[in-house]
Amino acid sequence: MIRVSVIGAQGRMGARVVQAVGDADDMQLAQAIGVQSSLEGVRPDNTDVAVEFTVPSASLSNVLALVDQGVNVVVGTTGWTQDGLDEVRRALSHAPNPGQSVFIAPNFAVSAVLADVFAATAARFFESAEVVELHHPDKIDAPSGTAVHTARTIAAARRRAGLGAVPDSTRTDGGSRGQVIDGIHVHAVRLRGLNAHEEILFGNAGEQLTIRADSFDRSSFMPGVLLAVRAVASAGHPGLTVGLEHLLGL
Ligand code: NAP
Repeated sequence: MIRVSVIGAQGRMGARVVQAVGDADDMQLAQAIGVQSSLEGVRPDNTDVAVEFTVPSASLSNVLALVDQGVNVVVGTTGWTQDGLDEVRRALSHAPNPGQSVFIAPNFAVSAVLADVFAATAARFFESAEVVELHHPDKIDAPSGTAVHTARTIAAARRRAGLGAVPDSTRTDGGSRGQVIDGIHVHAVRLRGLNAHEEILFGNAGEQLTIRADSFDRSSFMPGVLLAVRAVASAGHPGLTVGLEHLLGL
């Protein structure tokens, strides 16, 4: 049995992870840690993998503490910076256990990860590309981190293929063409009833390709989280890994 501790266990995602771990045949819940509890008791003698879903302001220090205590970590909290990732890499380089792992995924939904992979493949074949992300209106940031990542993925694929700027003759005068990220226009819709959705639009003269990923419910993230827990517990990914695509055998 893989012993899993959940950090942020009272949060919306953390509570789902507690439930998913309880439902998995090969896992058992070790500790459920909320904002009031200390991480000090989360140690290799009781925990194989800690799953961290808290808030961006707490995530880095939580991960560094867990690494220092010899615990493997799967992280779903968003908002990671390059500096934060570098700090985790440094901490892992002198971690107490050889082969210790931290796995961070900005998006655990398989559909969203595959949409990005397919978009990277498609990008070089199309003159135009735009991203539309659609979310519930309680979301604080816009555009979503996932859409920003998609735009950057498309832009990088276009650069590799030697494509120039996307065609756009708009002369804005108080109008809007969304946020331009790395040359790709990204539009954000906020609508009650939605959860998390993304459309990637590619266009050529006379044809269009649409790639759409829909996450209807937080349960969509759980298969990805459990996959990461199993990967980390099997010591198959020592060091820092960022992105679920690395576990999907693509
Ligand atoms: P949430 O409902 O606000 O839950 C966050 C929880 O963390 C709260 O219970 C909070 O407690 C607790 N917390 C805050 N600081 C903590 C600390 N230092 N130690 C332990 N617990 C602490 O948010 P959520 O919807 O679960 O989302 C959590 C994070 O996951 C966000 O960054 C979100 O963007 C991200 N997310 C990622 C994915 C993915 O696929 N990677 C998917 C969905 C969401 P209090 O409320 O008492 O402060």
